[in-house]
Amino acid sequence: MEKQGLNQNYNSPPPPPYQAEQTTAVVFQQQPMVTVQLFREAPVRTRCPHCGSDVITSTMFETGTVTWLACAITAFVGCWLGCCLIPFCVDGCKDVVHSCPNCQQVVGRYNRM
Ligand SMILES: [Zn+2]
Repeated sequence: MEKQGLNQNYNSPPPPPYQAEQTTAVVFQQQPMVTVQLFREAPVRTRCPHCGSDVITSTMFETGTVTWLACAITAFVGCWLGCCLIPFCVDGCKDVVHSCPNCQQVVGRYNRM
């Protein structure tokens, strides 16, 4: 009679008593000490996290949540005969993507939500 290889002992290690430390990723906290880079509509000067160079970001507008929201609102108020497509042509309704002109990597994003 051969035993199966199920030698899993059921005294598995207990879960850690404390939560793993919070991994706050890229959160723009308001810290007066650090110069927090806020990405808005205009190009900003920042340090590219990818290539490490000090660059002025190049911005491009991208259809975002607000664009669709504006589209929905426009359609809701009765302008659904093509007018709801206007938000897609208005940069003010779009998200702004900041990319590094040096390495073309996206360094930040301005989400209007
Ligand atoms: Zn870069």
